[in-house]
Amino acid sequence: MPDSTDSSTPGKKLTCMEMLQLMLDGDATAEQQQQFKAHLDECMPCYKTYNLDVALKTLIRTKCNGNGATQELIEKIRNQISQNLPH
Ligand SMILES: [Zn+2]
Repeated sequence: MPDSTDSSTPGKKLTCMEMLQLMLDGDATAEQQQQFKAHLDECMPCYKTYNLDVALKTLIRTKCNGNGATQELIEKIRNQISQNLPH
């Protein structure tokens, strides 16, 4: 039976935000990607945030053709999303 009392064990169980950051930064290992995908089925905030961010990045990349100047916008939107996530 898993112990649900440990809330902060680095490297073992990642929080939603940590997982999202890894995935969105492309730093997640294959194992972490699997865990995250399974997690998306159970965690609506992560599901929404992840899909929104991916869609956003794709949209911006397509529209701007690699020209920057939108990083600020991405961060702004990402911050707003983050505030809606449970901690
Ligand atoms: Zn989550």
